[in-house]
Amino acid sequence: MRAGTAAQDLTGQVALVTGGARGIGAAIALALAESGATVYAADLLPTDEVVSEIAKVGGAAHGLALDVTDREGCATAVRSIVEAQGRLDILVCNAGICPPGEVAGDWAQWDRVIDVNINGVQSCIAAAWDHMVSRNYGRIVLVSSMAFYQGGVIVGTEYSASKGAVAAMTRHIARNGGPHGILCNAVAPGVIATEMTSSFSKPDLGAIPLRRIGTAHDVAGPVRFLCGPDAAYMTGTILNVTGGIVLAA
Ligand code: NAD
Repeated sequence: MRAGTAAQDLTGQVALVTGGARGIGAAIALALAESGATVYAADLLPTDEVVSEIAKVGGAAHGLALDVTDREGCATAVRSIVEAQGRLDILVCNAGICPPGEVAGDWAQWDRVIDVNINGVQSCIAAAWDHMVSRNYGRIVLVSSMAFYQGGVIVGTEYSASKGAVAAMTRHIARNGGPHGILCNAVAPGVIATEMTSSFSKPDLGAIPLRRIGTAHDVAGPVRFLCGPDAAYMTGTILNVTGGIVLAA
């Protein structure tokens, strides 16, 4: 248990991480719990594994069955957390899908990706907004992608579009949340080894300045930083976590 280092102490805070069952979301849930937050890992998939991993390091975690495209379900999830804990300080909208696709791909896939990656983010933010405003405090972190900056490969147009929307939402929420004490930032990961990318062809490591693919842990650290006191004067920022693939934005 690494909780308590002043820079990232989240003791007493309550966090909701969507897509928390595996991959980047599970790593974020673990990192926040290691810093002392009580974490709710929400996912379509079972969350037992991440909850027990967090328990093993002495952290506090709960699993929530949630489909982020279910607006009422998102509202219910936030309501149940606030009822149980009296607060929700941190919202990490990480749940996302990234099916392989074409520029002129099929519309059913377009609708599904937009529904999960954009509408799902908005449903969670909308669910938490009034509560955060009423407390004059909130830390919202969204998960964009380097596809926003330079277009995706393998993925369909809808994925890049969705992650561009997430970047725009970050700035919109930052501007409007600031006066209410709500900070909103994002990370834009590069190529990260998770289930999502496991079937994709391997990238050319020579094109990555750090010469390796990222890990979920590589993304979780920056997210934890954005949730913590050291990022108190940062909002509307999109942090590239790409091993140097994206060098300017
Ligand atoms: P992953 O597929 O391993 O994990 C995504 C999680 O989100 C899964 O547990 C899945 O069940 C959950 N999820 C999907 N749809 C959901 C829904 N409707 N409701 C609730 N949960 C849902 O993928 P990952 O690599 O960990 O990706 C996490 C985020 O990072 C995504 O938003 C993804 O777009 C983004 N991202 C990933 C990479 C990468 O290289 N892996 C790069 C850039 C951005």
